[in-house]
Amino acid sequence: MFADLHLHTSFSDGTYSPEELAANGKKHSLAAMALTDHDTMEGCPRMAAACEALGIEFIPGTELTSEIKGVEVHLLGYFLDIKNMRLLKEIGDFQRVRQQRIYEIVARINELDIPLKAESVFAIANCQSPGRPHVGRALVQGGFCRTMDEAFERFLKKYRPAYVPKAKMSARHGIELIHQAGGLAVAAHPALNQTDEVIPKLVEAGLDGIECFHTKHSPSDSKRYLRLAEQYNLLVTGGSDCHGMSKGKPLIGSVKLPYEYIEKMKVALDRRRAASNQPSPGKAQAI
Ligand code: AMP
Ligand code: ZN
Ligand code: FE
Ligand code: FE
Repeated sequence: MFADLHLHTSFSDGTYSPEELAANGKKHSLAAMALTDHDTMEGCPRMAAACEALGIEFIPGTELTSEIKGVEVHLLGYFLDIKNMRLLKEIGDFQRVRQQRIYEIVARINELDIPLKAESVFAIANCQSPGRPHVGRALVQGGFCRTMDEAFERFLKKYRPAYVPKAKMSARHGIELIHQAGGLAVAAHPALNQTDEVIPKLVEAGLDGIECFHTKHSPSDSKRYLRLAEQYNLLVTGGSDCHGMSKGKPLIGSVKLPYEYIEKMKVALDRRRAASNQPSPGKAQAI
């Protein structure tokens, strides 16, 4: 039995609907799937229903944009109570900042005499958590760029004229936010950021786990993080980080996490919840 604990849909910057994503999970015989859209849980109810219809265990999650000591850390939250008021309120505030960022990016593009409208970006995004890929798609659909790559190269990537950095919450705050919503906090794809140097700080802040297996991790990266997980007594997770079709084929299925790691996550949650009288994660998928 295998799982994929890092997946995106069109509720953030992925292209699959929750139903398409669940159907792809079924195709790869996944026993469990987590939805980890950026700074949102908006797709979780539909993903829960789609997974239930296909007999796949669903783990509600998110991927929070955070930083610690100036290092960007993507924090995965798992087994979240998606009705948790504080988490919803803070994610909502964060989403408004993301939406404001779209206006800023579009204003910079307009300064270059390209009449892109923010409304066309929001129409394409059609979600609470828009980002640069939606601006890229709007530039292509509006005929201002031929490809997404061109949109990023000319306007959107760092040091280009329409680059606006993304707001980040403090990782310490993100971990606490995930915990108070009944979840586990995991550092995503540590090899992609300079996460290694801040792992001790994250552990101190209450980090529960580390994403050892990821599409962009080499076998030696995974080995190094497995060793670190042991050293710091952290849970081990993994996922494809599939955003939909990528170079002709979706990433889902490229990372298959043995189900025993999920059992370990549930044991850790049970322990914490027993200490604070919260319900067991075995019932977490019934949302
Ligand atoms: P944001 O979160 O709004 O800063 O956007 C980050 C997203 O942009 C990530 O999901 C990247 O996959 C995507 N991205 C970065 N560079 C490119 C590119 N050259 N072409 C397409 N997507 C990109
Ligand atoms: Zn993404
Ligand atoms: Fe990420
Ligand atoms: Fe991701």
